[in-house]
Amino acid sequence: MKSVADAASGTTDVRRTIPSVERVMAALGDPGLPRVVAVAEIRRTIDAMRRAARAVDFDAVVACVRKALATLRRQRLQPVINGTGIVLHTNFGRAPLSAAALRALREVGENYSNLEFNLESGQRGGRAAFLEQALAQVVEAETATVVNNGAAALVLVVRHLTVRRREVVLSRGEMVQIGGGFRIPEILEASGAVVREVGTTNQTSLDDYARAIRPETALILRVHRSNFFMEGFVASPPTSALAGLARGRGIPLVEDLGSGAVWATETIAGVEHEPTIGETLRQGVDLVICSGDKLLGGPQAGIIAGKSALVAALKRDPLFRALRCDKLVFAALEATIEAHLSGAAAEQVPVLAMLGVTTGELRERAEAIVNALAARGIAAGVTPCVGEVGGGSLPRSQVPSVAVELLERVERVEDLAKRLRHGTPPVIGRIERGRVQFDLRTVFPRQDEALIAAVGAAVMPNGQHREETTRLRVQS
Ligand SMILES: *Cc1c(COP(=O)(O)O)cnc(C)c1O
Repeated sequence: MKSVADAASGTTDVRRTIPSVERVMAALGDPGLPRVVAVAEIRRTIDAMRRAARAVDFDAVVACVRKALATLRRQRLQPVINGTGIVLHTNFGRAPLSAAALRALREVGENYSNLEFNLESGQRGGRAAFLEQALAQVVEAETATVVNNGAAALVLVVRHLTVRRREVVLSRGEMVQIGGGFRIPEILEASGAVVREVGTTNQTSLDDYARAIRPETALILRVHRSNFFMEGFVASPPTSALAGLARGRGIPLVEDLGSGAVWATETIAGVEHEPTIGETLRQGVDLVICSGDKLLGGPQAGIIAGKSALVAALKRDPLFRALRCDKLVFAALEATIEAHLSGAAAEQVPVLAMLGVTTGELRERAEAIVNALAARGIAAGVTPCVGEVGGGSLPRSQVPSVAVELLERVERVEDLAKRLRHGTPPVIGRIERGRVQFDLRTVFPRQDEALIAAVGAAVMPNGQHREETTRLRVQS
């Protein structure tokens, strides 16, 4: 059978050079992707060449398609080894899930569940009844509920509270951008609110807030400066004072806490105290918003905690239905919350467990990895380094850690980093003083073997073998 490309050819020399899809497909071998994806890529490549109207040789087409398919394969969602030392890395999916969360995902995912079914009455039931109760306990709130993510929680709260009065009072010091394209003032405006800016970047007083409140004011919003901190001539009123003002004027105070700590972060070396959700609510805040996949260590979710009447009203808002979570999120979140409630989170929730590992333990692993690399003829060393909590939380934190540093001479360190990214599994390290490093705090011990193999493949891409180098060079 003639392919489309063949049928269309024959008018010009250029067209005659264009190969058939079938021939390219045969030359490619196993594309490592569904056949139709490969065929579509071949058609796209051939079309582009046809439009460019230049003669193309068969090998060039095959090479071009092969490259495009490799890029597509890399774009597939897949595990990576995080050697950056940033525990909650938004680009890498933030919190890895606990074994209990994975079990729950599997059990709920592969079976039918009581998602909306009341086992007492045999009738339709509310979603997440136990989850909400357990969540309220773990965040020390009257009531709590969950939507898709922190941003959705903020949109829901702001839209719901600004139906009649439109204005949201916000300090100029909290008009922040969190990660890519998430700007607090823009989210507020997109939610239909009018932002009433108060104070200055570094100084906002209680009086600034008090003077801004008028009949159009719907709420006061506080936003955690998640990913940066200000030092020097900086002041804003204590939360309790702001809560007193809001209460006196009969408007709610909402705080977007971002990371939502439910445990004492200061127990981790190098990390400061992060106000917990419970502490914040006890200061008199009406509603707190935070993410489920930051310091809580669960799946992507947006947690809303606080006054029962407000949370109940939010749940009746039609928008709540549009922002509700999937059953898989409930399953993973419920398991994560139970770990916190049973006091087992420090061992069982990966984010907490990783932050709790001592530098001594990391150093031992680093030495073993360096020795294994030396056995493959690859020069590496052990070096102290500094990691971060990340995820837009605890920007001041400097988590002392230990890294494996590659001491191989390379022409361009960026090329080595790229080969590591293109490996299986992809490894993302960081470049310090012109060398690639892997902070072991964010590498799971079960990944050490894969890390060694991936480094071997990236340093010696053609499968060369070398004599063993001197073992373990420990740097101070
Ligand atoms: C992370 C963060 C958000 C966004 O939460 P998502 O769960 O990523 O949608 C909102 N506000 C603050 C202050 C944050 O730190």
